[in-house]
Amino acid sequence: MNDDVQKAAKQQSERQREADRDERGELVEQPGALTHTRARGSRNAPWTRRLGAGSLIFARRRLDAPGRCDYGGGMSIKQEDLKFDSAGLIPAIAQDWLTGEVRMMAWMDRASLQATLETKRATFFSRSRQRAWVKGEESGNFLHVRDVYADCDGDTILVLCEPVGPSCHTGRRNCFFQPLAESTPEEEPLAAPILARLERILIDRQSSTEGKSYTKSLLSAGPPKIGAKVREEADEFARALEGETDDRVVEEAADVLYHLLVGLRLRDQSVRRVFAALGRRLGVGGHEEKAARAPKAPKAE
Ligand SMILES: [Zn+2]
Repeated sequence: MNDDVQKAAKQQSERQREADRDERGELVEQPGALTHTRARGSRNAPWTRRLGAGSLIFARRRLDAPGRCDYGGGMSIKQEDLKFDSAGLIPAIAQDWLTGEVRMMAWMDRASLQATLETKRATFFSRSRQRAWVKGEESGNFLHVRDVYADCDGDTILVLCEPVGPSCHTGRRNCFFQPLAESTPEEEPLAAPILARLERILIDRQSSTEGKSYTKSLLSAGPPKIGAKVREEADEFARALEGETDDRVVEEAADVLYHLLVGLRLRDQSVRRVFAALGRRLGVGGHEEKAARAPKAPKAE
């Protein structure tokens, strides 16, 4: 091969690599540029916007679109490859797709899994009643399905969902409120990711009648005080970025987040709504989110 042919072959293979990346919805490298690409054939049109260099890779193993070439080179699993136990059941975990909170665990048989995928409402199999049940069929506290995944060895299901109201029959938001470790600090423990826990604490402080708390003093002082603190902390964060240590950057970012949460609390807006707004910017919807906000007085199922 002469040089020109080699060069043409190299260019061809580079173009192919770019096309491959597009096929998977991964972003073509354009450092510093604002780009968006669309994963072909994707249900949720998950175009992703990116600033600067680096690519986003999503490893996916999805049940709702088996065989699909997903972005990031993820793989999907066929339903027939799932491992149901001797009773024909598989454990299914329901997780809030926006906050990451684990809501509940229940069992599915093949039919209830199929119903979950088709109706987009989490459907389980009751071992005591020996029948399928739609979560929320009596209480209205549905789990609207966003995505369904299998784990690495195909013996557990993860349902990413938009929960309506509380998910536990006790009226709690999730079923995991019984700490096994002694050290859990909250008065009313409820397993949840850190921002959701912080939000719960802020809500407690807001309604508390006893003593002084910094949060409560901010909330009582109102928008001007909270706004001033947000500006002050944002400025400290900016200065840390410019010339302080990584630890300082992280601490200041935490201060900004805390004060943002206090501001949201003042307006009675949940962190979840902010996550939903971010989701919309990623093109992954979130339109059911408003309806899914927990009612003021949670009703038990
Ligand atoms: Zn429960």
